[in-house]
Amino acid sequence: MKTRHDSSLSVPQLPVNRNFRTIAVLTSGGDAPGMNAAIRAVTRYAIAHGLEVLGVMKGYSGLLEGQMERLSASSVANIIQRGGTILKTDRCLPFHKKSVRREAANRLRSHGVDALVVIGGDGSFTGAHLLEKETGIPTIGVPGTIDNDITGSEDTIGFDTAVNTAIDAIDRIRDTASSHDRIFIVEVMGRSSGFIASEVGLGGGAETILVPEKKTTVAEVVRAIERGIRRGKTSSIIVMAEGEKPGLCTKLAQAIEKRGYPTKVCILGHTQRGGSPTAHDRVLASVLGASAVAYLLSGRSNGMVGVQGGRIRLVPFEDAVRGSRSLSLDHLDLSQTLAT
Ligand code: ADP
Repeated sequence: MKTRHDSSLSVPQLPVNRNFRTIAVLTSGGDAPGMNAAIRAVTRYAIAHGLEVLGVMKGYSGLLEGQMERLSASSVANIIQRGGTILKTDRCLPFHKKSVRREAANRLRSHGVDALVVIGGDGSFTGAHLLEKETGIPTIGVPGTIDNDITGSEDTIGFDTAVNTAIDAIDRIRDTASSHDRIFIVEVMGRSSGFIASEVGLGGGAETILVPEKKTTVAEVVRAIERGIRRGKTSSIIVMAEGEKPGLCTKLAQAIEKRGYPTKVCILGHTQRGGSPTAHDRVLASVLGASAVAYLLSGRSNGMVGVQGGRIRLVPFEDAVRGSRSLSLDHLDLSQTLAT
């Protein structure tokens, strides 16, 4: 089986069955590094297949306001390496209403748009699914989210970059932790999902990884720290996903300090969202963006292009938005074994 880092991930060879002339592309929800590489791929693959491309500004909000501009091959030049999204992104509450989605479809039709590519997360795909179901506009989703928790895809654009950014920060924090003999709790992103924490913890050599998917008590964390101390360790790194309630890592630090171990907190926050995408995310975004157009041209839509077993598949939106992908706890166990 191919792995996540197999560079031979390729665009499916599909017959061209649809006579589309114009497609639109937008980015929606939280931004993720690699979204620009996906915009470039959608645009250039579509142009290479004789289509016109409109870029919609500010997600569904821009769609409602008719903020669309023609994208040429040169207007997406020099963006593959840039974080964020040149189309900007937004959270658009009105899009939850059926009447508003109908307005959006009318906007697309009045601009001559035959089909839409939505780059975003599961919220954006819920909107895209409803748009296609209710108005018949063929729509395809491209998974762009640093959380990597979308059902139906083993990988999402931005995850690899976010993990590498956090590991880079941990390497620096470790220098201070070991110089001062301190315990550091490093909070990474992930409100309801521990994918980032799990990868960052294992890759960053953390003593303990705390994720929303697994309940861990303060006593267990302290036991892990004490195991390290018995082995002669003078510092420890604990990686913690932010969780739903703010301030959890500060509370944990206070609880550990009460047991006699000075503990510092470092919240990485939005630093993990930005920055130049890794090679992995650029390749993933290029293949996924082109695949979205290939599926549209083949006559398939109402789904998300996802990675499964090293291959690109079209996952029906209904499946992609049903719950979140579940985290295997293997890396947490391995991290603990390797740290002691
Ligand atoms: P993400 O796509 O990163 O998960 P959000 O959950 O914020 O981000 O969703 C982005 C946008 O998608 C929302 O602002 C809204 O416009 C649209 N959206 C989300 N959920 C729905 C829904 N249930 N119905 C219609 N549109 C939705």
